[in-house]
Amino acid sequence: MTDDRTTPGNTTPGNTAPDGIAPDGSLPDSHRPDPGPAPDPAARLDALTRRLDEACRRAGREPGSVKLVAVSKYHPRELVAAALDAGQRDFAESRVQEARVKWPPLRARYPDLRLHLVGPLQTKKAAAAVTGFDVLHSVDRPRLAAALAAAMARTGRRPDCFVQVNTADEPHKSGVPLEAADAFLKECRDVCGLPVVGLMCMPPYGRDPRPHFRLLRSLAAAHGLTQLSMGMSADFEAAVAEGATLVRVGRALFGPRPRRAGGPPDTRAGGPPDTRADGPPGTR
Ligand SMILES: *Cc1c(COP(=O)(O)O)cnc(C)c1O
Repeated sequence: MTDDRTTPGNTTPGNTAPDGIAPDGSLPDSHRPDPGPAPDPAARLDALTRRLDEACRRAGREPGSVKLVAVSKYHPRELVAAALDAGQRDFAESRVQEARVKWPPLRARYPDLRLHLVGPLQTKKAAAAVTGFDVLHSVDRPRLAAALAAAMARTGRRPDCFVQVNTADEPHKSGVPLEAADAFLKECRDVCGLPVVGLMCMPPYGRDPRPHFRLLRSLAAAHGLTQLSMGMSADFEAAVAEGATLVRVGRALFGPRPRRAGGPPDTRAGGPPDTRADGPPGTR
């Protein structure tokens, strides 16, 4: 499912720039995979959009009805700019601090872009998240919900919120535990007054994601929520079949990720998505 094995970052370990991109942003021919997807974001975006539309058709859904969020975490600004030039407008980052450095110049050039926050959010960064992002995908505990509500009241900004659900009740994983989801949703909406638009989940790595997508869908329906943020590079087609309204795709669009912002690409094939938070564990 993932395109990683056919991308240059994986076939030529030792590259120092993500996806074989030269400092000037050009893609040397020697780094073009053969065969495989073209490494430039415009061509990849085109191929990905086609796959998404095809998945919609197979599911009996309108092509174009699922929003593609391009997960650009750790990738350099130039690569993001190429996707913006190709028409992509929804992007996601996993770290508040990285986004603060990377996005202001892009926002100035593309005022209509929407920035999503995925990945664990520390309570102390709630205010920065409200200021810097348009959509928050990882609202998952009462203290964070209260901090977000306070920041929204203070700033007047009200980014759309997704409640993240830990559908497999995996220990150490973000998301509200399944048995606490009903009460937490009520608290978010009725007590905190957050603009909750839907639910988000990340199924356990390496297992069939479909039961988790279905669970999320029925939970959303039970709460009258219409948006489902589910599906990543490895499983977005299954997510579309199960009703995703928004998919979060990184590697299938941008190729292998650097292991940290500004670093070399991670040349390990596949693997779970990187969900590192802003700070060390236990600081949320
Ligand atoms: C990194 C990340 C993604 C994207 O994963 P890919 O496998 O690169 O598509 C999606 N959602 C979340 C929450 C992530 O942290």
